[in-house]
Amino acid sequence: MGEFELIARYFKRPARRSPLGVGDDCALLAPAPGMQLAVSSDMLVEGRHFLSTVDPERLGHKALAVNLSDLAACGARPLGFMLALALPSVDEAWMQGFARGLFALADAHDCELVGGDTTRGPLNICITVFGEVPAGAALLRSGASAGEDIWVSGNLGDARLALEVFRGRYALPPAGFELARARMEAPTPRVALGRALLGVATSAIDLSDGLVGDLRHILEASGVGAEIEADVVAGCMAVLAEPEGAAALPELAFRRACALAGGDDYELAFTAPAADRDRVRRCALESNTTVTRIGWTTSAPGLRILGEGGVEIEKARFSGFDHFG
Ligand code: ADP
Ligand code: MG
Repeated sequence: MGEFELIARYFKRPARRSPLGVGDDCALLAPAPGMQLAVSSDMLVEGRHFLSTVDPERLGHKALAVNLSDLAACGARPLGFMLALALPSVDEAWMQGFARGLFALADAHDCELVGGDTTRGPLNICITVFGEVPAGAALLRSGASAGEDIWVSGNLGDARLALEVFRGRYALPPAGFELARARMEAPTPRVALGRALLGVATSAIDLSDGLVGDLRHILEASGVGAEIEADVVAGCMAVLAEPEGAAALPELAFRRACALAGGDDYELAFTAPAADRDRVRRCALESNTTVTRIGWTTSAPGLRILGEGGVEIEKARFSGFDHFG
């Protein structure tokens, strides 16, 4: 199958919202008047971002999900995306699975594939998403002030837990493993929550490299510090809600490490004034997403992670992946 047949078979669909989709030299997008385009790219490389054995349907989902997560962090509404794909060979079953996962998520967010590039090479998937947000209203990393609440959406640490199981460093009973694995392979971009938070959150970021590292970006961009409660964060793991999973995770230090520094969560971390707690909870309800208040911003710079009794835990331990050795 040649390049053009492959594109026609798997990726060309009639344009819906955009004036021109796949097939010409450029795609055309038409953001509504008064809106700004929000644009972001994320690349997934085999061996680095996913295992070669991953289900292609989940891979198609994840490749778009990590991009939609960036739109979510800005509070943008998805419009369309570009897909640049390098493939070692054309495996039809793989292509079908990949396209199914990709378009299921795209359709759920009314985000259309408008173009891309296809070439032979080591498996590599690069997506660029386009969204729109009212001019001047995008959620940024730089908007936090001292004395605000820090929140996270959904679940943290499960993707990292699954990775540790894949690496043979940890064992989980089947139900717990499937749950953690789904969080790693098919993350949920929090698009509805991000949009609901426009005008409510003062800053936001999506969590791809681990809460502690990513939260630091907000603190640096906003010129504030923060205190977060390690055990509130550790309580955000989805597996804890699953009886077998909870029973298999007795070590607090390991749970803390997964949830604080794990990575691949694709949740949102955001700040909002303490006076707006009810507004934040309404945004969560409206978008059918859970949120947890994990700490507060401070005028003193730096990030302090508090353990039992509010005693600070040594920071270096959660600065990144090193903790897992
Ligand atoms: P050009 O030679 O102008 O770069 P191509 O031959 O690469 O164009 O692509 C032909 C058309 O197919 C273009 O509209 C391009 O956007 C689209 N396309 C190529 N690869 C993909 C893909 N993986 N997904 C969606 N559209 C694609
Ligand atoms: Mg081309």
